[in-house]
Amino acid sequence: MSIHNWFKRKKAQQETAYVRERLDIPGNLWVKCYKCNQAIFTKDLEDNLKVCPKCSYHFKLTAAERIIQITDPNSFKEINQKIVSKDFLNFTDSKSYAQRIEKSILKSNLYDAIVTGLAKISNLPVALGIMDFSFMGGSMGSVVGEKIARLIELALEKKAPVIIFSSSGGARMQEGIMSLMQMAKTSAALGRLRENSLPYISVMTDPTTGGTSASFAMLGDVNMAEPDALIGFAGPRVIEQTIRQKLPPGFQRSEYVQEHGMIDVVCDRRQLRENLSKFLRWFDER
Ligand SMILES: [Zn+2]
Repeated sequence: MSIHNWFKRKKAQQETAYVRERLDIPGNLWVKCYKCNQAIFTKDLEDNLKVCPKCSYHFKLTAAERIIQITDPNSFKEINQKIVSKDFLNFTDSKSYAQRIEKSILKSNLYDAIVTGLAKISNLPVALGIMDFSFMGGSMGSVVGEKIARLIELALEKKAPVIIFSSSGGARMQEGIMSLMQMAKTSAALGRLRENSLPYISVMTDPTTGGTSASFAMLGDVNMAEPDALIGFAGPRVIEQTIRQKLPPGFQRSEYVQEHGMIDVVCDRRQLRENLSKFLRWFDER
């Protein structure tokens, strides 16, 4: 089947993706916390913004869930929704990259690992980018880079601040050097934002690693993170093997990274919207 027919079929589903709510069907009523093993009623977990009521473990959110939690109701207008990656290298490992993309689109109801658009938070306009880990581990390839660059260009045009939520395993290896180039591309776009005195708030969620952490995720005027998120470049196992030393407890978690001066604020998801509003208001009044 050609990819075009395939997209047509997807269209109806796609359009309702942001308003759809998960149905409480049997078998989906309870979830177990990954951290403390507590069984939680799904509805209670969702009411608590997907934070475990017992141990405050922050479950991963889809981009759609994040939009609902963070933005003013119905204020989000998506841009550049249907940009799809090219298989530049004709890359195949256990599966071809083209197949992986198709499968990820089906599974996540997204076209790539970031959703971008304009929205309002506490009635203040923002250009918003939200990565979604469910699309190929939130990996940054040419589409993520392009969508971030276009988002920043739109922010410049509208004179709006930029907020990007990261959730990413790093650069997308299937696109090779094209993925690495997105680090420079997104950083340069943020440089233009800075030249024009527009603020950028980066919110790192679990995990923010590799090329994402080494580019736009760490370049915020304010760098925020959700609690206990894995934030770093290479993973702890790789570092331990390289330096042949045991790493300290809590290494590369939000709190540790903050203590070492790389993050400004570690913010519980339940206060995130309020704190973002405060920062936006503060910047707005400058
Ligand atoms: Zn828990």
